[in-house]
Amino acid sequence: MPIRAAGLRGVVRAGIIDAMPETKPDPTDELLAEARSLAALPLETLQDRLEGLRSRYRDAPRLFTHETVRLLKQAAARATQRDDGRAHAILRDVFGYPDFRPGQLDIIEAVRSGRDCLGIMPTGAGKSVTYQIPARLLGGVTLVVSPLISLMQDQVDAMVEVGMRATYLNSSLETAERSRRVAQVRAGEFELLYAAPEGLDSSVGRLLDALDLKMIAVDEAHCISEWGHDFRPSYRNLAGLKSRFAGLPVLALTATATPGVTRDIVEQLALRDPLLVRGSFYRPNLRLHAVKKGQGEGVREMILRLVLARPAEPGIVYCLSRKAAESTAEFLSSRGVRASAYHAGLSPEQRAATQERFRRDDVEVVCATIAFGMGIDKSNVRFVIHRDMPRSIEGYYQEIGRAGRDGAPADCVMFYSWADVMSLDRLGQRSETQGADLEDQQRRAVRRVFDLADGADCLWRRLSLHFAERIEACGGSCGRCTGQDVIASAGRPRARSGARAAGAERADAPMQWSQAAGGDGLFERLRTLRKSLADSRGVPAYLVFNDRTLQEMAARMPQTREQLLAVHGVGQRKLDEYGDAFLREILRRD
Ligand SMILES: [Zn+2]
Repeated sequence: MPIRAAGLRGVVRAGIIDAMPETKPDPTDELLAEARSLAALPLETLQDRLEGLRSRYRDAPRLFTHETVRLLKQAAARATQRDDGRAHAILRDVFGYPDFRPGQLDIIEAVRSGRDCLGIMPTGAGKSVTYQIPARLLGGVTLVVSPLISLMQDQVDAMVEVGMRATYLNSSLETAERSRRVAQVRAGEFELLYAAPEGLDSSVGRLLDALDLKMIAVDEAHCISEWGHDFRPSYRNLAGLKSRFAGLPVLALTATATPGVTRDIVEQLALRDPLLVRGSFYRPNLRLHAVKKGQGEGVREMILRLVLARPAEPGIVYCLSRKAAESTAEFLSSRGVRASAYHAGLSPEQRAATQERFRRDDVEVVCATIAFGMGIDKSNVRFVIHRDMPRSIEGYYQEIGRAGRDGAPADCVMFYSWADVMSLDRLGQRSETQGADLEDQQRRAVRRVFDLADGADCLWRRLSLHFAERIEACGGSCGRCTGQDVIASAGRPRARSGARAAGAERADAPMQWSQAAGGDGLFERLRTLRKSLADSRGVPAYLVFNDRTLQEMAARMPQTREQLLAVHGVGQRKLDEYGDAFLREILRRD
């Protein structure tokens, strides 16, 4: 290193004299030097240094030369690669999934780098992973705002099952329990805190100031918009969050949003230059079928056949009226199916009881009006049947979205007819409060459903097109593409005699996996084991392992813990907790 002029103090180190000017160093050069040094930094410290440099850039961008910026970008790319790997590692080790679904990683990367994000993730597209993984990556606490108080317990249970540190605070808690949790949250015991929007202007709001908050996720974000179908005034409490926690990334998530609602979400939450990510509406594991009514056999007999072909598999039958829900449930019960009705005419206690029994797999089939569903996050619903035509494609999509959330195959069968269109028109006319415009809108919506159901080409293709997404014909996930007659393949109806119908009863049943693999009913044995483990811990069976995981276990028959860990949905925590029990069952010979 050349020694410049006199007046410089030198430090002799190993024969080299480092020049140290007496005057203050030029901050521009200093920054450049720091940027150069990043390349040699270990990954563990790189992120912190980058963070510091980013904030200096925000304060004084003029001090950053082109070369400095180029070096910073290079370093940021290196840091991101590392986190890409970490995000994958968490997905694999904690959740037991091999790959991200479309859009998930984009969202995770955005919020991890501090950017706001709006994710429009259709039901079943894997929305929650997009804040759960950043929660682990970012450290500190991630706040999850959700209006669905009834779901929080489930969401938290599911997190705890995979080994995430999660809790919730809402109005359903007793005072003592609440104080206990607040103390734990303050002590930094949780990485995920779920809260209802109502709490944010009171106690939870005050608590937030005391936390090492890293990110805010707003679930069901469309509730903030008056233009949305589900406006909740309490969501307006969220309006100040962004400015109150300046600099924190906010992730807004919703299943569907029109352009108007999208704009509203961005404005109300004051998102800054948010990344907009859309998941796909196409869910290949849902097999869509549309069956025209009035062609010989009665709808209720066809429903019975569908249900009997799926023994002990949870499903929902949507009906247009309370009466139809009641009578369908009665009919199925009279044929040996454990079925219950659910509609707004029942008492809250009755509804809660039915919901809970369904959650625990103690009721197989719920016959319901559209009142059923909002509070349901049961991942192993294996079929959704529409006894009557849904009112809109949006509604239809939401209702079938309750099937197959675990990624395993599920059947969605819609019965439709022009007579249904007429009844829905009449229902629309009956409500006097609404104007002609709305009535007209409803009439059009109903006809779109009819056109969807009655068309000759791929159902998924036209359904996606309705949401402005273009896909190829699905090829294997709808009755139009496969040519499968879902009713005929259900076999002949036969009432159950007390005990569960055996697999043999279904002729060419679409759910071959139940009998697949091992040929000795291994799947059934694993399912029984799952139920007893779940009951002993007081959680729903699907929280232990979902159906897809059990199917893979039955098919691949892992013999070691390592092999079991490779099964979809088996993460480290569940392996430790349940692995040995399931391996014993797989290895058992009788
Ligand atoms: Zn298709």
